[in-house]
Amino acid sequence: MKFATKVIHAGIEPDPSTGAIMTPVFQTSTYVQEAPGAHKGFEYARTQNPTRAVLEKNLAALENGADAVCFSSGLAAQDAVIKLLRPGDEVLSVNDLYGGSYRQMVRVYGPWGLKSRYIDMADATSVEAAIRPETRMLWIETPTNPMLNIVDIAAVCAIAREKGILTVVDNTFASPYLQNPLDLGADIVLHSATKYIGGHSDVVHGCLIVKDSALAEGLHFIQNASGAVPGPQDCFLILRGIKTLHLRVQRACENAAAIARHLAAHPKVEKVYWPGFEHHPNHGVARKQMRMFGAMVSFDLKNNTPEAARTVLSGTRLFALAESLGGVESLIGHPASMTHASIPREERLKVGLTDSLIRLSVGVEDVSDLIDDLDAAIAKA
Ligand SMILES: *Cc1c(COP(=O)(O)O)cnc(C)c1O
Repeated sequence: MKFATKVIHAGIEPDPSTGAIMTPVFQTSTYVQEAPGAHKGFEYARTQNPTRAVLEKNLAALENGADAVCFSSGLAAQDAVIKLLRPGDEVLSVNDLYGGSYRQMVRVYGPWGLKSRYIDMADATSVEAAIRPETRMLWIETPTNPMLNIVDIAAVCAIAREKGILTVVDNTFASPYLQNPLDLGADIVLHSATKYIGGHSDVVHGCLIVKDSALAEGLHFIQNASGAVPGPQDCFLILRGIKTLHLRVQRACENAAAIARHLAAHPKVEKVYWPGFEHHPNHGVARKQMRMFGAMVSFDLKNNTPEAARTVLSGTRLFALAESLGGVESLIGHPASMTHASIPREERLKVGLTDSLIRLSVGVEDVSDLIDDLDAAIAKA
């Protein structure tokens, strides 16, 4: 099955009891047994839920995995992955990691004994040199947030495999339509399905996809034993969102490309970050591992002051000032005070995340309306 067919059909059958074409929302906490232990594969809804089971089959197919494991949020999915480690183990990750991921690793798991280190992974050879004996997991995010750096997934996973280190790729920014890390050698793919996979800014959800059945079993054990499971209504909404994933992401990427090029030529704009530019340091890698270049664009103004940035941020009418990304509607955000406020300022500045950096999540509206909206707001800055 090709991607556009999988989003609609993979793992999805009409409901056997009614013929309902849409997977029902099995809003139940338990299942009746005919005799002790005699049941239909469903005992208690933290452990198994039919709506969630269909979603997990569908997600596994989208990432070319063997199994998927769903959670109540992207960070709950990350939490389950970290629980595969032991005190004293180290996670090596990118130095512009998603703020919430960084906060969990440092502030929740730091006191518990997890070591974490953050490096520039744009050059894969520097990753090899950074690995220490206690490094048990490589945590890749690409494209990164909000600097839109690109990590060569195949190259980094090959280094990790040789040393027996588990690789995790946070594929939230790309979505399964643009990039499939398991095909490039990753062990675990993580999505905040809150973003592109759900796609309508109406649900918080996370998932993990793996190829290896022992790893899947371990993660399903943590899913049940720790209990951060999604409700069936949320699983239904994610299943519905997925049906148009390829259409939404394709249009959003086309719009983002037009906006990135427009901003790059704008007299008031200093710098635009978008992996589709030929001068982007890892454009070649992006071209190799992604289907399109994504729908996230960051930029700095020539008037590089927080005040000028604030004028743009509150001056758009279509781009809504909000956290999050990946929905059908365009959003504008200020990483330094919003998504990345939990990262110390010195750390932010080291990676180019200035106090005036503006981040766009480009949606699927008419692109000329979006460009007019940005131009009007930038004119005031
Ligand atoms: C939003 C996000 C997360 C966290 O997901 P939630 O669903 O908000 O818990 C993790 N990684 C990336 C890249 C994200 O954008």
